[in-house]
Amino acid sequence: MNNTIINIENLTFEYNGHDVESVKALNKISLEIKKGSKTSIIGRNGSGKSTLAKAINALVLPTEGRVLVAGFDTRDEDRIWDIRKTAGMVFQNPDNQLVSAVVEDDLAFGPENIGVPPEQIRVRIRESLESVDMMEHIKMAPHMLSGGQKQRIAIAGVLAMHPDIIIFDEPTAMLDPEGRHEVMEIAAKLHKEGITILNITHFMEETLDSDRVIILDRGRIALDGTPAEVFSESEKLASLGLKLPFVIELANGLRAKGFDIPQGILDETALMEEICSLGGRHAG
Ligand code: ADP
Repeated sequence: MNNTIINIENLTFEYNGHDVESVKALNKISLEIKKGSKTSIIGRNGSGKSTLAKAINALVLPTEGRVLVAGFDTRDEDRIWDIRKTAGMVFQNPDNQLVSAVVEDDLAFGPENIGVPPEQIRVRIRESLESVDMMEHIKMAPHMLSGGQKQRIAIAGVLAMHPDIIIFDEPTAMLDPEGRHEVMEIAAKLHKEGITILNITHFMEETLDSDRVIILDRGRIALDGTPAEVFSESEKLASLGLKLPFVIELANGLRAKGFDIPQGILDETALMEEICSLGGRHAG
């Protein structure tokens, strides 16, 4: 069985401005994404992350190579809506994604555009809002909501299209810690429900529950592996201008001081247990 849902073959993309030099934002990228997986994409500013997301959503088309989404070639104009239905995007600024004065109307917009019958649209709106725990805000104006809530509505808007894939393009960059947490919890829940997740982020902590972490550098893949594999390459990460997630940095620091902490620890609870098992004294 072929469980690849996104297939990127030798993808190069160049931005060609009229009065600026052309920029090769993606340079011969080949990548297969497995159905139901969660992949985080990181890399410093300008490394090509957003362009890669746009290439998957057919917002930019390959200069060379090809991108297949659920078997549809992004260059096939007749399949644009199949691709956008299959792979929904959540962008950085929630205000640019919410177009209507009332949450309910906003969520109807996508399904109406693809000809979903009105009674089914109502069902989809309810299900999507329940999925992001925002049903009680159905009649509200989006501008009355917090940043995290607005992103949840934007996610509901994508869910109303019944996507197989959701691409998050730095969805938490403009949110406070609480909003970030809300959005990442929902991404984790949707992943558990079987949706393929691509999360572009510059918060290293957000990548730790992924199946796979891909690091881009100047339009190429610099590292690709599980979080434990990728974050064991601390020198390479530093050379790419990236910091380690705090929990890994802390584990490395303890190890350097002679504490017997195993490799591959990715969350605070596990690290705490390791520290406790070293036989430290504690009250109670
Ligand atoms: P990232 O998301 O990692 O910050 P981008 O995909 O936005 O990277 O950008 C990759 C490269 O393409 C950068 O050099 C950037 O300056 C350039 N670029 C991005 N968007 C445009 C555009 N609309 N026109 C010209 N160059 C662009």
